[in-house]
Amino acid sequence: MKTVFEAFPEIVFADATYKLLDSRIPVFVLLVEDGNGQSEIAAIGLLVNELHETLKWFFQTFQKNNPASMNTNVFMTDKDMNERKVINDIFPDAKILICLFHALRTFHREITCDKLGITPQERDQSKVLFEKLCYSDNEEEYQKLYDTLKSFAPAQVMDYFNKNWHPIRNEWVVGMTYNAGNFLNRTNNRLESFNGKLKSVIDSFSNLQEFFEKLFVVLKCLRIERDSKALHIVQKWPTTKFLNAVEEQYFRLLTPYTFDFLKKQLQQKSTIVESTSTDQSCSCAFFRSMKLPCKHIFKKREQESLSLFDPTICDNRWTRNYYTKSHVVFNTLSNDQVQCSSLSITHQPEQRTRCLTSHEKFRKASMYSTKISEILSTVSNDQFHRKIEQLKLIINCWANNKELSIKLLEDDICVLNDYIIEEEVDVEEEVDVEEEVDVEEEDTADIANYKEAYLLNI
Ligand SMILES: [Zn+2]
Repeated sequence: MKTVFEAFPEIVFADATYKLLDSRIPVFVLLVEDGNGQSEIAAIGLLVNELHETLKWFFQTFQKNNPASMNTNVFMTDKDMNERKVINDIFPDAKILICLFHALRTFHREITCDKLGITPQERDQSKVLFEKLCYSDNEEEYQKLYDTLKSFAPAQVMDYFNKNWHPIRNEWVVGMTYNAGNFLNRTNNRLESFNGKLKSVIDSFSNLQEFFEKLFVVLKCLRIERDSKALHIVQKWPTTKFLNAVEEQYFRLLTPYTFDFLKKQLQQKSTIVESTSTDQSCSCAFFRSMKLPCKHIFKKREQESLSLFDPTICDNRWTRNYYTKSHVVFNTLSNDQVQCSSLSITHQPEQRTRCLTSHEKFRKASMYSTKISEILSTVSNDQFHRKIEQLKLIINCWANNKELSIKLLEDDICVLNDYIIEEEVDVEEEVDVEEEVDVEEEDTADIANYKEAYLLNI
């Protein structure tokens, strides 16, 4: 949607999805994040292939139809060289970040005993260190880990790493990607989620007519969902009590999505002993990435007896006024109806539990399956096989829609609480790469014969 892109062009997530069309051509999707954290489709292209010239046409057409793209600071992609080179040529001022999931996947695929002639131990050690490098907070931490890598990694691994990863570390080392202002997005999960929805509605290898009919059904559903959340901003008011007047002021200023981040930072300021920030800016990941005041700035302002509420530190894209003025659903409403200042805030009883989307269920379930894998990787061989059999039983029952009850052996009851997973993850401290909903397999065979290409710019 052009209007959404015009208002929120700062970061564009780009990737292709496959096997939707019988002609086997890739469907290229560009997606943005709005001021309330919602994903919006900026463009969809059906490309005959992913060669340089084709991608160039796609991005140039997108640029021509969307002048706001001159304000795009960041593109997030996988590690495809063609795509990255084209984006770099057409948008020379934008930074290109590599999705963390794709970075790890590419490294795992390339660092193998067969490809590099290394031992399994060398391979495993290299992979572990690469993952640590990915999660480095800054250049200093990266350099220390890089020195460690040099101290043990075989020459083949170092050659590969120095050629493909070291020179572009700003594009994939998490702590450094925050400098680009990626709004804490480390992966292309937003895009994977959309592609997952496409695949749940559009049958594999559909013909063009079926594809377009169902594509517009998906887009319509997503728009209804997004518009309903937008209206929620002005129609529904908080169900939680504010701790103080500052919280309430920020709530009035910012979209609900943004306010949740800010509220955490306000509450975490008490954990800061000595702040090294100024009262307006900070070097931490949250401030660099979100362009919002962080816990360090709040601490500093508290120490200097300054008001904790300062709208000038908040990027305009996150404000309610900007959101409502730029959102299509409010176009028919008068300004009086959407001005935050004209609305009163009411405190309501505890929020009801809302239904989770399938993607949210998937992500939540993934946390538990990861925990299970962690536990199983540490048990003895006998225990491992026994527990795998138990898991198979559970999977079989659930897959066949059968219920089962699980009975604890009496002696083990005391350990029940040991494996509770913390579901409220602090974004800054989050360390695990998020799972993708749907892992794409490249399949671009037999596409060279198709001569037409399509671009949707909605
Ligand atoms: Zn900070």
